Amino acid sequence: MNFNSHTDTVVRMAVALVNVLTPGEDRSRAYLPPEGAERTTALSALFRASGSRRDVTSAEAAAFVPVAADLRVVFAAVAAGDLDGAAQQVNDMLAATGAHPVLKRHDGEAWHIHFHSADETSAVADWAAGCATGLAVVLGGELHDRLGVCTAPHCDRVYVDTSRNGTRRYCSTSCQNRVKTAAFRARSSSDMGAH
Ligand SMILES: [Zn+2]
Repeated sequence: MNFNSHTDTVVRMAVALVNVLTPGEDRSRAYLPPEGAERTTALSALFRASGSRRDVTSAEAAAFVPVAADLRVVFAAVAAGDLDGAAQQVNDMLAATGAHPVLKRHDGEAWHIHFHSADETSAVADWAAGCATGLAVVLGGELHDRLGVCTAPHCDRVYVDTSRNGTRRYCSTSCQNRVKTAAFRARSSSDMGAH
């Protein structure tokens, strides 16, 4: 997609937070989010993979749960064709966090945009502001329908469609294959019936 790399990072983080921290169904199984130490470990791995130099604390990990629930509302609204609702939710999150862009230059990089919250002492608020800003960039652009909820049966994990054609409908290749296999079986059995 045509986003700068930091926007990509926060949009991907929004997807990951929703998929790790919100309950529902994941690839045909009931999904219960991790709690306690397991949750802290899972989120630390997530943030380290996106460049964070420290683990999250257990308090931070717990504080990400309502952020993930707020983010899911945006994906669900877009998937339901309710762009007004999605925009409203993103605006509410931007207002609640006091999200604002800041130009930064560090570690020999060129000047680039970071997204911050009004509370600069809170990593959770900063990430909530960043994720909301990333989704705002997506919703405000040509690729506004690229946020989705998996359409496979018994799955409600979310994704951002970065494919060129924008034809993605599933959270994973696993769900895509599940649906293909089911469609193939349905076709085979109706063929048998016709003979
Ligand atoms: Zn899925």
